[in-house]
Amino acid sequence: MSNIEFKKDVIIVGTGIAGSLIAKLLTDHVFDTEKGKMVYRAEVDHPENVRELSILMYEAGLEAGLELDSSSSLTTYNEYIRKFYMEEAKVPNSPYPNLKQAPSPDVLDMEKIIPPFPDKKGYLVQFGPMPFASDAIRIGGGTTLHWLGTTPRMLPNDFRLTEKYGIEINKPDSEVKTPINWPIDYDALKPYYEMAEFEIGVSGNVAAQEYPISESMEEYYGKDYVFPMDEIPQSYMDQKIINGLAGTCVQLNFEEFPLTMVPSPQGRNSTPNPAYGKAKIIKANSTDSGYKLSLNNIENEEYKALGSVWNPYMGERCEGNASCVPICPVQAKYNALKTLKKALYKFNKNENLQKHKFISVQAQSVVYKLSVDQANQEKISKIHLRRYISKEKTDFVEEVVDTSDSIVILAANAFENPKILLNSKYTVIENGQKVEKTVANRSDQVGRNLMDHMVMLTWGLFPEPIYSYRGPGSTTNISSFRDGNFRSEFSAWISPLDNWGWSWPAFSPGSDISEFLGQGLFGAELKEALAYRLSRQVLLHFEIEQLPNPNNRVTINDQYLDALGIPRPVINYELTEYEMKAMEQAKLASDQMFKRLNIEDFTKYTEADKNTFIYNNVRYSYNGAGHIVGTHRMGDNADDSVTNSYCKSWDHPNLYIVGAGNMTTLGTSNPTLTLSAFTIRSVESILSDLENKFKN
Ligand SMILES: Cc1cc2nc3c(=O)[nH]c(=O)nc-3n(C[C@H](O)[C@H](O)[C@H](O)COP(=O)(O)OP(=O)(O)OC[C@H]3O[C@@H](n4cnc5c(N)ncnc54)[C@H](O)[C@@H]3O)c2cc1C
Ligand code: SF4
Repeated sequence: MSNIEFKKDVIIVGTGIAGSLIAKLLTDHVFDTEKGKMVYRAEVDHPENVRELSILMYEAGLEAGLELDSSSSLTTYNEYIRKFYMEEAKVPNSPYPNLKQAPSPDVLDMEKIIPPFPDKKGYLVQFGPMPFASDAIRIGGGTTLHWLGTTPRMLPNDFRLTEKYGIEINKPDSEVKTPINWPIDYDALKPYYEMAEFEIGVSGNVAAQEYPISESMEEYYGKDYVFPMDEIPQSYMDQKIINGLAGTCVQLNFEEFPLTMVPSPQGRNSTPNPAYGKAKIIKANSTDSGYKLSLNNIENEEYKALGSVWNPYMGERCEGNASCVPICPVQAKYNALKTLKKALYKFNKNENLQKHKFISVQAQSVVYKLSVDQANQEKISKIHLRRYISKEKTDFVEEVVDTSDSIVILAANAFENPKILLNSKYTVIENGQKVEKTVANRSDQVGRNLMDHMVMLTWGLFPEPIYSYRGPGSTTNISSFRDGNFRSEFSAWISPLDNWGWSWPAFSPGSDISEFLGQGLFGAELKEALAYRLSRQVLLHFEIEQLPNPNNRVTINDQYLDALGIPRPVINYELTEYEMKAMEQAKLASDQMFKRLNIEDFTKYTEADKNTFIYNNVRYSYNGAGHIVGTHRMGDNADDSVTNSYCKSWDHPNLYIVGAGNMTTLGTSNPTLTLSAFTIRSVESILSDLENKFKN
């Protein structure tokens, strides 16, 4: 074991989008010793007064994934692409190293759960009763390497489900109800959404957005707001569906829902929108109430799309290769390595990129525990990690790092953050008795309220060719069911139209080939059958909001350890009537749309599906969306939340916990834009803490 004494100002665990955003924004600021303030690096008047921040990031993934100079990053990324080509099942994790030292959840490991026995085939130990059906990846840059890149904002009512629709949930292990409003509202988050859209580089058309909300689009987005880049063109299939459904309604529960089909905002490069104007920076200003970040123009620089990490001029435009999940070959799709590189490299006086001396990343380092210094305001005093030696071996060095003078930021995603916290036990004396506690868990909310969008798929054959399998995974969504009074009864949902044929539900086109070969088709006949079927395949998906539920949780158990002896996430997961009813309603909506479009329905949910249930005598099956959310919710009260609205732990003055785990509710938006917005906002609080530290 080595005890490491160096003192860093900030230690960040995880190089995904949450950790990288914080690293990027902090390295853009320095402490001005004369002013006694944190200031934007480029605005320093007297370099001799600068106190740089020292930052260390820990990453569980391999060293190679974090070497971001042009030649190394190209080499590593090409290995990912090669692996993707070779893998039979092109699932989200297929291009990336599957590490025994830092295993990742994988959809291929998911099994049907037969209670009381858990499914422990993969990294997750799933007690169910239903499987949690989403995965993530532990490599440099994290899960955005294989995300799709869809970036809608949440809707105002998503932040106030109790106030608006009377929804309350049970307190942990109790029948007492508690509200689920967020500690911040949409308006508070709006400026940070703009910063997140800038950093991710969102393409989209504000004028074409239409949501079932009472605010006008001008109120929602702000007057004259545009996304950084123009809309990615909607696919030919989208246009056929839009033409067939435009002006029509779906009837549910005696209510008519007009169908609105909107181009999806997305984090992939298109043409910069001239109306977006200049390139921008995110800069902190000191105010009476603390630091405020704002988005500012750089007057002499036009906004440009940022291409790949190895060459910013490659991947400047999406090329429509359609392999966005699991990998974009040219990095036209945003991934967090782009933000991480901006943290690790800065432009020098000669406008050349140079490695920044005050930040480093230590890879192959799996953080598994924090310690608390009870003599000092319950500060986090140590980080414990296991640093493995190589890709092949599970030998490791135990490191214990002194953090008593550091701000610690957990950004390891919504499975790993709670796992580390629950593994961090300490004892206090209360009323003369020894009481065992776990870090940041005064509220008993750590690990609870695990959520995902349950994805119900429906698929069929369009009456004419619509040429699926072209363009990014999805370019349009049906927004009609994202909000409404029905939310007091069942979940809202968003319905992306998928450009991927039946690949998700039926493993097309491979399954079509084997089916036709099985029927004895060869040569021209086989070609004709394939051309007919593949060009007509339609896939809709219904991403159903899941409510926070304290019984859906990540825990740990000494019985289930990984190869480094670190606890694996133990998952309990169930669906409620609220979500099952939404699937029933979504299927009714799908049936009506299929009928109107003359789509021949091939949707089939069977008992053999791993995640299937019967509701009102009808079978439904769902998949995961990859949206691992909840588990360290933010709130305005230390008794029922883990962090405040700036992602700062209520219980420890030097601990921040960031990522989708902070989300109080899920809404119908893919979560990454929202988690990026409030992670950016958390930097205001971190800067204040740093100022206090440097002044004292
Ligand atoms: C198939 C798929 C498609 C998706 N599509 C979308 C989409 O279209 N839109 C959207 O908004 N979201 C999407 N998501 C979700 C999105 O990828 C996540 O919300 C996002 O990546 C979470 O970011 P994060 O930084 O919190 O966590 P991650 O990106 O998971 O990063 C966590 C980092 O921490 C590291 N780490 C983990 N454990 C440790 C440890 N113990 N010690 C040290 N380091 C550790 C990991 O290696 C990783 O680098 C998708 C997800 C999947 C799986
Ligand atoms: S369609 Fe192709 S180029 Fe465009 S983001 Fe997806 S994978 Fe990248």
